[in-house]
Order: sequence, then structure tokens, then C-alpha cells
Amino acid sequence: MRLVNGSPVVFEVTSPSPLKSLSGKWLEHDVFFYVDSSTKVWYGIAGVSLETHPGKYLLQLKGTTVGGKEIAVEHKIAIGAAKYPRIAVTVAKQFTEPNAEQLREIAEDKTLKENVFSRVNPEREWSGNFRAPVSAQISDVFGTARTFNGQVQSVHQGLDYAVPEGTPLAALNRGTVLLAQPLFFEGNCVILDHGQGLLTIYMHLSKIAVKEGEQVTPGEKIGLSGGTGRATGPHLHVAVRWQGIYVNPATLLALHLP
Ligand SMILES: [Zn+2]
Repeated sequence: MRLVNGSPVVFEVTSPSPLKSLSGKWLEHDVFFYVDSSTKVWYGIAGVSLETHPGKYLLQLKGTTVGGKEIAVEHKIAIGAAKYPRIAVTVAKQFTEPNAEQLREIAEDKTLKENVFSRVNPEREWSGNFRAPVSAQISDVFGTARTFNGQVQSVHQGLDYAVPEGTPLAALNRGTVLLAQPLFFEGNCVILDHGQGLLTIYMHLSKIAVKEGEQVTPGEKIGLSGGTGRATGPHLHVAVRWQGIYVNPATLLALHLP
């Protein structure tokens, strides 16, 4: 699969001499690897931001062999330009001015989200392929830019599923519940930590079925769909975040993973 801006990526590394540890640097972030003990292949999940320009970027790898020797290698990896939809809107998005109480709520949510998003768990919790949260039609893809007078007004940083209220939603993979509570814009929101810096976020739920700190298995019910928060109607917005970078959930779902 060609790597483009807005993509998640899984780096697979094999070494001629067996390694006891491996770490990486990619686009100024740490990449955390784990080894498949049967094949001795190292895997690390990462991402490329929407804002990354096409070009070649360095993946820097550092490892220690079983014999205690330090090794360092660099790989140049090409990133292409993705084609995301652009929709020209004829009317600027109007928001009703939030009142003082709502502004306080929005500010509290911001602090809470910054805190949740700053945590990076290097240990892998995910295992195997990521699976769709629900079987339904996609109503908006990742990366859609809405423009007004030629200016980008907003970029859609998730994937929308057209589901009626009350549809059971499944965890994309194994993980730990980082957040499970109502937020002003997101409505009832669940954030799962899958390890190696990867989070999945589920918004606008009518009901939350998990608690913070709880571990979930792949496909486990995390709640019911709805239209809570700032949503035009019931739907599921799923976002995937790797160390501060939103990546395309559809690409993650298509990856074949160990
Ligand atoms: Zn959405």
C-alpha cells in the first residue's frame, strides 16, 4: 500500500542478527516496536499527518542485538499526496454563540482532552486486524475539506457511519478505556488506548457501556450510537489518533496486521 498524508502505517523490521530491543524515530515521534516471537519480525504502528508534504522522510532505527551490540540504521520512506474530497459550501458554518456556562464546559473539556491525548502508552494492546465498529454505510470519509470562498473551513478528521440511534458499537481492537463521558462537542464519547501511541475515539453515543480504566476486547460493545453533542443527527464519528496525529480510520481497517 502506498503511504500518503493522513495514513496510519505499520513498520515491519527484520534484522540479520537477533535483536533484544528496537526503537524508532519517525516525523519527530517515537515509534514503539514489539517482536513476534515466532517470526522474529518487529512491528511498530505509526502515522503521517494530513499536513505532511509529499517527499522522502527518514525512519531512524536503533536496536540492541542479543549479544549486546548497538546498531543504528536509517531508511528513506516515500510519502505521496492523498486525494481527499473538497466540498465547496455556499454558506459559512454558523455556530450559535455558546453561553457562559457552555464556554466553561468547553474549556474544561479542552483541558481534559489535552490530558488524555498527552498520554502515550508504549506497550502494544492491539492485536490482529482492526475491525469496523458497525456494519453500516459510510456517510462521510476522512479528510473531506469544506471550503467557503476558496478557504478551507474545516477538515473532517474521522469516518462517519450512517447509523440510527441505539445501534451497538464495537471496539476496533483490544484496548483500555481512557475516557468515557459526555463532552460538549463530541457528546457521549469513548476513547480507547490501543498502545504504541494509538487511540480510537467514538462520538455522539446515546449510551456509554464501558468505564474508564476497563479493558475491552476486539469487537466488544462500548456503547450505542446516537446524536449527542454537536451533531446534525444520529451517526457514529470514529477517529483514529497516533501521538497527536489524526489518521484515516478506513486505511487502518484495511491493514493486514499480525
Ligand atoms: Zn464525523
